Amino acid sequence: MNLPLAGGLFICEHCGAMITGERIKRKLKGGGVRVHDYYRCANNYPEDDHPSVRWRADDLEDAIIADLSKLKMPDEEVVEWFRSSLQSAFAEISDLQRNQRIALAKRQTELTNKNDRLLNAFLAGSIDEPTFNAKLAALRDELAQVEQSLGEAPSLDPADVRAALAVFEFSQKIPKIRRGSKMLEKRRILETLSLNRMLGDVSLVIEKRKPFDELAKRPEIQLSRGDTI
Ligand SMILES: [Zn+2]
Repeated sequence: MNLPLAGGLFICEHCGAMITGERIKRKLKGGGVRVHDYYRCANNYPEDDHPSVRWRADDLEDAIIADLSKLKMPDEEVVEWFRSSLQSAFAEISDLQRNQRIALAKRQTELTNKNDRLLNAFLAGSIDEPTFNAKLAALRDELAQVEQSLGEAPSLDPADVRAALAVFEFSQKIPKIRRGSKMLEKRRILETLSLNRMLGDVSLVIEKRKPFDELAKRPEIQLSRGDTI
């Protein structure tokens, strides 16, 4: 069964099993078939105290839309403020990462030059072989560390920045999106903005990533408007 919100998007709040889709077809007396879509806990052998986790597809969609609607900003001014905060936060991160890389590259050059001077000093006979070997080993250790750090230095992928901004823009339009439309797009949105999604017998929990967790706590954001994030 392949309903758009099934397949590991949600887990059961009670047992951690995957939420799966279920399509039930009922024959109507007057001919024809009525289709009912459900989402339920996929655990076929639940503990005795496990409540029934089974949602009508329409009800789950309504709950998701209601939850995502919390991301909607009250007015265009706040939207503009959050948008520019998001952009400057990304700019700060990439500046920091660039500076780290520049510092590491500078140290790498210094160490390489030191290495050359050491070799020249040894060839000119101004230091003995044991001293040369000890200093060379120390230099090579540090150079290896710097090269490793350079290789591991994080860099912000512009595609991630674009995705985050796109999700933000989309999140502002969510309340206008009607049930049933763009279900796959909603699935992508959910995956982008949340870490964990849990379904209980009567509750839906969507744990949002930064900075969307802050967006969902909008009243606090309004209070601290003007501060930098
Ligand atoms: Zn369960």
